Amino acid sequence: MPTSIGPLSSEVFAGGEPASASPALEPAIAVETEFDDVRLMLRRWQAARVGDALPPYEEMTLGSIGRFADEVAVIRRDGDANHCVLRAGQRFRTVVGLRHSSQSLGELPHVFTLSIGSAIDQARSAREPRLAVCRWLVDGKVSTIEIIALPLSCRWPGEYFLLFLRPRKSQFNLAKLLINSTQEGIVALSPIELAAGTSEDFCILSINEAAARFLGSTVDTLQFTLLSDALRRIGIRENPAVLARAVAGGRLTNFELAYELAGSSMVLQVGVAVADGVLAVTLTDVRDLKARETLFRSLFHDNPAPMYVRARGASGFLDVNEAALRLYGHARSDFLARALADIRIDGAEDRESVSRHRTADGRIIDVIEYAREIMVDGAPAVLSTIVDITERKRTEAHVTYLAHHDPLTGISNRTVFTRELERAAGGLARDNRGFGVILVDLDDFKTVNDTLGHAAGDALLIEAATRLRNLVRRSDVVARLGGDEFAILLPDAGTRREAEGLATRILHELASIQRIEGAAVSVGASIGVALAPDDAVDTEELLRCADLALYRAKESGRGTFRFFEREMDRQHRERRALEMELRAARIESEFEVHYQPIVAVKTGRLRGFEALLRWRNPRRGLVSPADFIPIAEETGMIDDIGRWVLLEACRQAAAWPAPLVVAVNVSPVQFRKGELVDTVDMALALTGLEPGRLEIEITETVLLADTSANLATLSQLRGRGVRVALDDFGTGYSSLSYVRRFPFNRLKIDRSFVREIDESPESLAIVRAIIGLGASLGIDTTAEGVETVAQLEALRNENCGELQGYLFSPPVARDDVAGIIGAFFDDVSLVA
Ligand code: C2E
Ligand code: MG
Ligand code: MG
Repeated sequence: MPTSIGPLSSEVFAGGEPASASPALEPAIAVETEFDDVRLMLRRWQAARVGDALPPYEEMTLGSIGRFADEVAVIRRDGDANHCVLRAGQRFRTVVGLRHSSQSLGELPHVFTLSIGSAIDQARSAREPRLAVCRWLVDGKVSTIEIIALPLSCRWPGEYFLLFLRPRKSQFNLAKLLINSTQEGIVALSPIELAAGTSEDFCILSINEAAARFLGSTVDTLQFTLLSDALRRIGIRENPAVLARAVAGGRLTNFELAYELAGSSMVLQVGVAVADGVLAVTLTDVRDLKARETLFRSLFHDNPAPMYVRARGASGFLDVNEAALRLYGHARSDFLARALADIRIDGAEDRESVSRHRTADGRIIDVIEYAREIMVDGAPAVLSTIVDITERKRTEAHVTYLAHHDPLTGISNRTVFTRELERAAGGLARDNRGFGVILVDLDDFKTVNDTLGHAAGDALLIEAATRLRNLVRRSDVVARLGGDEFAILLPDAGTRREAEGLATRILHELASIQRIEGAAVSVGASIGVALAPDDAVDTEELLRCADLALYRAKESGRGTFRFFEREMDRQHRERRALEMELRAARIESEFEVHYQPIVAVKTGRLRGFEALLRWRNPRRGLVSPADFIPIAEETGMIDDIGRWVLLEACRQAAAWPAPLVVAVNVSPVQFRKGELVDTVDMALALTGLEPGRLEIEITETVLLADTSANLATLSQLRGRGVRVALDDFGTGYSSLSYVRRFPFNRLKIDRSFVREIDESPESLAIVRAIIGLGASLGIDTTAEGVETVAQLEALRNENCGELQGYLFSPPVARDDVAGIIGAFFDDVSLVA
């Protein structure tokens, strides 16, 4: 606690405690010195004042100041605020570092210049002694120095000050302060030589607080004790050998000291230095460092990503982690003994590079190598992290494969086909190289699928794809466009004849597929061919051409191929237009049924009428069923139309004046839904027509597809007494076999044979054969399209049963039927 001299100034303690404890009544001097004798000196200064005047220079410097002489200096302040040291005691000089008297204060260490200047300035303006303190090193210790300036009066010019300077008692040891302020432990050890030349123990000369803490003790306890004792207390039984070696002049190495302290483990990094036979030992707590190191080690070694470290520019490895050893299949020592070139086949030294590496068993793996510069033991190194992308690449390859191939057959898909087609078109534009497209559609694939199941359908597609691929050249592209449709691109199609040759071979090859999964099948195909640049240059256009040709091939009886022709395009457009109108047509108002008489040759009697559908199109007039029936079949509208025709024909027939037969044409499509029997039943029921008066005309196509179900339908109809006729006989493929499979009531000899009967011996022969076949099977025959008397005569000669044709009457509207019937019954001699 600083003390005041004299009564305390009320200004100082304003509002504070009353100044009742003041020891003297002298006027207050605001100097808080710690020294009693200095207080005496101040009183002397006080006493030497005369009124308002300052104590004279002589009085203070010459008189009783004697005992302070060593610690004071006399300062003269000149007009320009320059302080000149007139005289200075020895102690004063030592402390502030004055070499001789008559020196300017400005030449002192700055801290003194400032403090002394401050004390003088205050004393000058207060006209009283004033104190300033400053800290300075005195004898190696930090001291707080009191600087007291006592203003004096003097006869000579200038202002004079007596400057007293003394370090306070409470010095402190800076070295100790510094040593104790660090977290590092510092110990000075003095070797104790027990036997000659050996230093077996050490005396702890000095130890700081951190070191004492590391040793679980205090500075006071440990100082001047034996190191071995201190270490034993923390469980270390022997002094580290390094210390003795250091004393003996050996190499100084850092080492680690690990032990248990108060239940937790300590790790110290120990550094040793020797000075004058004394060991200076530093102790650093490296637990955090160790923990971090462990963390980093485990981040490397236990990292699931394969990693290795190389010295920069070197080919060998410094370290490798477990994941990398697993990936490459090497043992650690084996791996570390290798060079980079042993595992890396290619790839750059980049920060991030895709490369191929080799594993221990010789496998090649695709990897991405991420390289990072790091420091290892102070040297630049490269840490590589490896990402194995082999699987990813394989997956990508698989995805690419899937994107380009038909998953079922393994041949190219539409994407590839389109791409290759574009490429071929590019070749055409560049080098005028022509190319061709062949579209292949399996005939009756649906039948196989429906009757044998999807597995058989799949097997058939695979078989077809395989055969197609085997037929074409390497450069040709075989693709499955979907369903049972295949496409072949002939990048250099050459001549039309080549394409034709291939189409023929394909037809033959596919037709030769006879068994699928053990079941007998009869597969054929229809083919459409289009050539660039003849038919089109644009790929889409070319595909459309091939499609039209295919369509035409299908239409013309399947099992054939067609080249695209301009005419097909026109017909196609026409057909589309018709289709639009048919869809919009209202059956009851736009359709009507006409009737064509069928006459018995021998008797000349009217046997009945064939019902023939007519479409009275508001714009086109009467449209032939040959034109719109196929469209109706294709669009499925035939079901409604057919039902209507059947009902209408039965209704009319029921109203005829004679119980004649009415023959109604039924499309194969009407068999598909399996509703035909119901439709017939309903028509008969609604109209009351006798079943025996109804004759259903079917074509061979009905028996081509789904034979067993359709045969069942036919049998059901016959079971009801309905008659069944096989229309257009002789135009199909295997007519004879159908005749064997179903008991038809009638065969209708196709118009094409009748037309040529009187001029073509072949046609006559066929007609004769058909009539003969019918006779021997007990089946009636009707000749269609009889137009001339010559034809009539020829047929009569052949014993044809019935006739139908323009010679007798074209199909007539329903209102004219009664007239015809009447005429026949009136004039039987018409054909006689
Ligand atoms: P189709 O069943 O063979 O009918 C005979 C075709 O020959 C009819 O043609 C008929 O008008 C025609 N015709 C008859 N006599 C002669 C003749 O002396 N000379 C010539 N040149 N032609 C003659 P239409 O009426 O044009 O019918 C064509 C085909 O349309 C029919 O051939 C039949 O297959 C189909 N059709 C007609 N009506 C229907 C129907 O209601 N339903 C179904 N599904 N098909 C029908
Ligand atoms: Mg017919
Ligand atoms: Mg016919």
